[in-house]
Amino acid sequence: MLLDAPRRPLRAADIPTPEPGPGQLLLAVRACGVCRTDLHVFDGELPNPKLPLILGHEIVGMVARVGADVGRFTTGQRVGIPWLGWSCGECRYCRAGRENLCDRARFTGYQIDGGYAAYTVADARYAFPVPDAYRDLEAAPLLCAGLIGYRSLIAAGDAQRLGLYGFGAAAHIVAQVARYQGRRVFAFTRPGDAGGQQFARELGAEWAGPSDAAPPEPLDAAIIFAPVGALVPAALRTVAKGGTVVCAGIHMSDIPAFPYEILWGERVVRSVANLTRKDGEEFLALAPRVPVRTEIEPYPLERANEALENLRAGRVRGAAVLQV
Ligand SMILES: [Zn+2]
Ligand SMILES: [Zn+2]
Repeated sequence: MLLDAPRRPLRAADIPTPEPGPGQLLLAVRACGVCRTDLHVFDGELPNPKLPLILGHEIVGMVARVGADVGRFTTGQRVGIPWLGWSCGECRYCRAGRENLCDRARFTGYQIDGGYAAYTVADARYAFPVPDAYRDLEAAPLLCAGLIGYRSLIAAGDAQRLGLYGFGAAAHIVAQVARYQGRRVFAFTRPGDAGGQQFARELGAEWAGPSDAAPPEPLDAAIIFAPVGALVPAALRTVAKGGTVVCAGIHMSDIPAFPYEILWGERVVRSVANLTRKDGEEFLALAPRVPVRTEIEPYPLERANEALENLRAGRVRGAAVLQV
């Protein structure tokens, strides 16, 4: 499914199967998650995508061929491909173990063709073995919703009372990890989304309500997954002194001005960007132990446009996943 230009519907196309270069894997894609970031690329909110482009960075596939100089994987093995597709290894961020901030990083389904396809190639160094406990479709959301959610949860520190704004693919996974860690979860959805609030309660949230409501008690941290800047001051008003508000998305509408007093008291606003391979290894080891169960809505690959529009409209319960 090709994106020819932003805001133009994806188009089914027959293109040659890519060749794995040195260090690369050719994957027969089995499943690919549909992430909010895909919509930001589709909408032209992220600058300079590769065009035409194959979206998708939550890829579960079988290794069909191995390029030269790949030691880690063999043909027939199941692997997962995340958003971070390449980093330079040389810049000051890479050398400090912060490859998620690499100056020259390249991302899957944005600057590199991704997984809305029958085949894709990927740099083997950024691929992960997929835990055996998961079927292909259920594993796909772990690769971004899970990984970035996990990184966001770490950024929230040791917060006991955790707010989650936007109860979609990432929050439904983070809620399970947070409960496993003994934290208390408070979920915020779009106003009127009773189904989303019910879903959050089923996954262990002790309170769920609309994003313009106050929780029953102050929170120690909040993670914002929805791309809505107005949620930043809303979340700041819910966190206690010393609390952190984590913005987990890659793009957000502008944040409205707010009074300093809601930041005062050593409250922190921060973002989380991308992932490191260490995040991936840690989270994919943790997920089966929780065990994280992903709720998915499957779509055939050729209905990718419909999956994207349902995600935009908030009609997806859990994660939309393309079945290839
Ligand atoms: Zn993503
Ligand atoms: Zn770098």
